[in-house]
Amino acid sequence: MEIKKIKKAIEKYDKFLITAHINPEGDSLGSQLAIASLLRALDKDVTIIDSDAVPEHYRFLPGVDLIRNKTRARNKKFDAAIVLDCPNLSRTGGVRGVVQKSGYIINIDHHVSNERFGDINWVEERASSSGEMVYRLFKEMSVEITKEVALYLYIAILTDTGSFNYDNTSGETHEIISELLGYGIEPYEVSKSVYENKSVRAVKLLGEALSGLEVTANGKVAYLAVRKKDFKRIKAKPADCEDFVNFARSIKDVCVALFFREDNEKANHFHVSLRSKGKVNVNKVAAQFGGGGHRRASGCTLIGSFHDVKKKVLKRVSDEL
Ligand code: 5GP
Ligand code: MN
Repeated sequence: MEIKKIKKAIEKYDKFLITAHINPEGDSLGSQLAIASLLRALDKDVTIIDSDAVPEHYRFLPGVDLIRNKTRARNKKFDAAIVLDCPNLSRTGGVRGVVQKSGYIINIDHHVSNERFGDINWVEERASSSGEMVYRLFKEMSVEITKEVALYLYIAILTDTGSFNYDNTSGETHEIISELLGYGIEPYEVSKSVYENKSVRAVKLLGEALSGLEVTANGKVAYLAVRKKDFKRIKAKPADCEDFVNFARSIKDVCVALFFREDNEKANHFHVSLRSKGKVNVNKVAAQFGGGGHRRASGCTLIGSFHDVKKKVLKRVSDEL
């Protein structure tokens, strides 16, 4: 089994790089910090490097200052790299080169679109989150879960299940959560930090996006967008848009929700978030544009005018309805 191979590799190597995807969020941060704790408990040398900065609302996490930025990563060499929550190596962004230079790549992920880029590929499509997989690694390696680790894992699972709402939530997820709460996690304190910690700018940006909400395909598809000029005018950041797609998704009878986020620096570069409420496989749609993710939550990036990008994506979505 892959988890046993990972155990062996962790025992064998000494100097580890840990990384995850661009635009970090709860699962990528929680699972990186948790696995770093596991490695440190085993006296390993650990460096976490992410391509993008940690968003404001995750800075309360203990140990988050240990996450370094890619510019500090050059010339470093590692025995092994652990890549979390990434379906492919380009999702590691600016850290990709350092990962490829390391001697051995351990891929731990739960995306259906995972490309098995590692020397070990532990991919569990049914896992709620990468955090849940790291939890299992703690058990496999008999490393003690501390309160700090419980918090990391709780946040990873909480955010990737949409607060236990999505179909990746199972009885097993709740069993793990129940154990983690036993370490003294206070759910409302976490919820306040993660979900009730927005800047006024972020909420104003949401207002801007919502005022442009469109519904098409007989009410089955809803989408909204944020443009580069909105970021500039409101002085908001891409991380402020983390949950915008959910407002399109919350509409009755909508099957597919989309959120187009223009890059805040590069005009005409659009990240598209796709969410499915039913049988449409949005991973398949995203894959047609070089992206991926999960069956009901995926993303991709397209370059072109907003008009053309929107047209292309809406066409593919309507083909799947
Ligand atoms: P989001 O829409 O929140 O950016 O991402 C939704 C899901 O799709 C996440 O699981 C994320 O990892 C994945 N995803 C987002 N953008 C991309 C992309 O450009 N390529 C791939 N392969 N996956 C993506
Ligand atoms: Mn994840």
